[in-house]
Order: sequence, then C-alpha cells, then structure tokens
Amino acid sequence: MLPIFAKELLRQEVTEKRSIDIPEEVREAYRLWRPTPLIRATRLERLLKTPARIYYKYEGVSPTGSHKPNTAVPQAYYNMKEGVEKLTTETGAGQWGSSLAYAGTLFDLEIEVYMVRISYEQKPYRKVMMRMYGAEVIPSPSTRTEVGRRILEEFPDTPGSLGIAISEAVEQCLKDENTKYSLGSVLNHVLMHQTVTGQEAQAQLGTVDEYPDKVIGCVGGGSNFAGVAYPYIGEKLRGKAPKDTEFIAVESTACPSLSKGEYLYDHGDTGRMTPLMRMFTLGHEFIPDPIHAGGLRYHGMAPQISSLANHGIIKPRAYNQIEALEAAATFTKAEGLIPAPETAHAVKATIDEALQCKETGEAKTILTLMSGHGYFDMSAYEDYLDGKLQPYELPQPRIDETLSRLKRMYPFQ
Ligand SMILES: *Cc1c(COP(=O)(O)O)cnc(C)c1O
Repeated sequence: MLPIFAKELLRQEVTEKRSIDIPEEVREAYRLWRPTPLIRATRLERLLKTPARIYYKYEGVSPTGSHKPNTAVPQAYYNMKEGVEKLTTETGAGQWGSSLAYAGTLFDLEIEVYMVRISYEQKPYRKVMMRMYGAEVIPSPSTRTEVGRRILEEFPDTPGSLGIAISEAVEQCLKDENTKYSLGSVLNHVLMHQTVTGQEAQAQLGTVDEYPDKVIGCVGGGSNFAGVAYPYIGEKLRGKAPKDTEFIAVESTACPSLSKGEYLYDHGDTGRMTPLMRMFTLGHEFIPDPIHAGGLRYHGMAPQISSLANHGIIKPRAYNQIEALEAAATFTKAEGLIPAPETAHAVKATIDEALQCKETGEAKTILTLMSGHGYFDMSAYEDYLDGKLQPYELPQPRIDETLSRLKRMYPFQ
C-alpha cells in the first residue's frame, strides 16, 4: 500500500489507538465551517404530527456542500507533509472530487480526478467547481489508462462506475513517485476522520440533555454514517450508553450491497488493483443502473461497516430514488433546505421512523446526518417533479450473476 497512500494515513488505517489528535493546521482549515450546526427539525415534526424529536447535523455548510472535506483536508495535509506533489482520485457525483480539489488548494497539491462518465455528463457544474479549484477532471473510463482502454474496448457505451474510476486513479498514481492516491470513503482512516461529526453531535445534543434512540445516515461506502454513528456505537459497545440506540444505514435499492449483497472477500475496484477485503459486496464487476444518487453507487461497503452489520450492530435498509426524493421534497417544504439525492435516502428513513413513532405514540429522539445539500442536483429534482424517474430496484438474478462470478474467481470462500 506504500506506493499508493501517505505513510501517516496507512498508520491510521491500522492503528489500535482509541483516538488521534487532529493536527492544528487541519483544525485551522476546519474552522471555516466547523462545528457544523445541529438543527432540531421542529417544522418537519409538526408537519408529520409526530411525537419524535428529530435532530439533523448539517454538513452542507462546508465549502463544497458535503461531509467530504472532513477527510479531504487531513488527507491532503498528511500528503503535503510527506512531500507528495500530486493526488489522483475518482469521483462519482463529483462531491469527493470537488472536496479533494478544494483541499488541494489549501496545501498546494495538484489534483487529478477520474469522474464516472454518467456523472460527468449529468452533473456538469461539479466539474466546473473542480476546475475552479484548479483540478484536472477526466471522464472515466478514459483512454489515459490501460484499465480504461481495456474497458472501453469491451463496453464502449459504459456509463462508468466508481470501481472503474478507482482502478484508473490507482494506475495513474503508480506511474509517478511523487503522486499518491486518495480515497473519499470505505477505508478505516477515512471513516475515522469523519467521526468529527459524531463527536460534535454528542457535545451539541449533550447541551440539551438529549441522547439519540436512533442514529440514521445514508451509506455509499459508509463514511458519513460511520462519522455520526461511531462515537455512539463506541459508547454502546463499552456498555456506557444510556440507551439501547439503533443504528440505521440507508442505501439505494439500485445498489443494495448491505441489504442484498454477500459478506465475501472482494476487490474495492473493478480492475482488481486493490487487495481483497471482506465486505458486503455485489461483486466488483457490478455496474449499477444510472440513478441520480451517484454517491450510493459503490459495489461494496466499508469493511468496518460490513463487520458491524454482520454482527447486527448496524441495521441496513434500502429505498428507491423516487421514495427518497419524495421524502426530500417533504423535508424541503418543512425545513427550507434541499438535501443531496444521497442524503434524501437518510431523510426517507428519518420520516419513516418519525411516522412509526406517531403510530406507537413514543417520543423517540432521532439523529440524522445530513451529508450534503442538493443545489448541484437540480436535474435529479427536475426529473422527480416531471415524473421521469424510475424506481430502480436491482433484480436478484443480476446480483446472483456478479456474485457467482466472484465466487468462481475466488473459490476459497
Ligand atoms: C459521497 C456522499 C455520500 C456517500 O458516501 P459515504 O462514504 O457513504 O458517506 C453520501 N452523501 C453525500 C452528500 C455524498 O457526497
């Protein structure tokens, strides 16, 4: 892994320390938008006529409008410290690419972004944002890499996938000594950087004597959910939690790795450049349908989140994009802000849980991570309003197909 990642990030990847201090330079950068607000959604509660108390932690106030700079900034910082000059990465909806591009401006790093082709075409403004930060953006699969050329030859019309884009970014990083690769989700160190949100939420909820009965977040690779949930899961596992909190990880029915995938050893990327990781996966060859929630289209899931789900500590749930965006529309009318399509999946779970409380009459406390705003995603909401969305649900035979190929490739499992 040393040619790919900064040493300090690898140290964090395998550390057994309970906590790692945030470097002063990173805190100084965080001060631009952290701590992020924790907001009680009183108007949504009234609209739903629920006795539940709904709190959301809003990460949309960061420069790029999501939780992703929470890890982009420390990753860029540690790379800069080690003399790295350039970072390559992949991006789906453009959230990660823009966040790393922003972090690059803070520590004077060049950023090269492989953007999933379908998003490159559907989300032109994220691309402009990355270029404003000075990054180079390449639609993936591209002809710049061997992996890209191989895939384009076989599937010239492919919409691309995160798995393919990761392979390209890793291949490109390996070509140059002063270039490293940066990943926006899935890995242990990324999940740990995100726990700044859960730690803030603990402090903020503490000031109003609240403790969540339910913690909710959407999951693509698992980082924003881990961020808000881990500090609470830690308390629960150490027997220090005052409540038997439930942790709900929400994914898309178009890419249901936790709820319909299997817990197997698989690669993190389509080109099989990464080591095998045990995780809930749909198979590294899986290419999801073109849904708007680009950040929820990853074939696998963070190994840590997978393990917690396997132990029943995290409960997975999946919704289709129509249900999700409909919930977002309800939220918008009540609370004013428009969630990202990914976040909309968490909003749907939040509303369902609040409605459940209405039926049972229980005044539960719900904490939801609002991973980002949707102001670059108006084409998704336009399609929703015009009735043009498909309620994609991945058919079982497609899952069986990619998983049986994976099991044939690695018959030890
Ligand atoms: C990237 C992204 C996600 C999904 O990624 P995770 O690592 O699972 O958090 C969710 N919401 C938003 C707004 C994103 O940008």
